[in-house]
Amino acid sequence: MARFIPRQADWWGTVWKLLFFLAVIVFAIAVIEPRRGIFWTALFILGGLWVFVSLMSRKGGYKCGKCGRPFQVPTLVNFFTVSQVGKNDDGTYYSYKKLTCPYCHKVSKARLMKLSEAKGEGRLLK
Ligand SMILES: [Zn+2]
Repeated sequence: MARFIPRQADWWGTVWKLLFFLAVIVFAIAVIEPRRGIFWTALFILGGLWVFVSLMSRKGGYKCGKCGRPFQVPTLVNFFTVSQVGKNDDGTYYSYKKLTCPYCHKVSKARLMKLSEAKGEGRLLK
């Protein structure tokens, strides 16, 4: 059984994400654009984003806000859904997405979780 631990909103994680995007975009505009044109630049930025999102979806999962069961989402779903930030009662923040749970089939605020162990039995959202 895969185990999930709640993920705290950490500043360094956010800073790294921003730096990654910035690096991809700067590299694309400075190196690729003058040589290959805007099409390849856009493609590169999109590709970088895709790799990033797929890494993120492999590393984490989401916990259903209705039934509390953890599940993972495929890259495609992760790519086209927006991450939102909610506030806990104790003043800390958490990240969530509006997702349909693969177990109870209800749309809820699914909290971002860190996948701490092997991803054996987590059912994939379709
Ligand atoms: Zn559920």
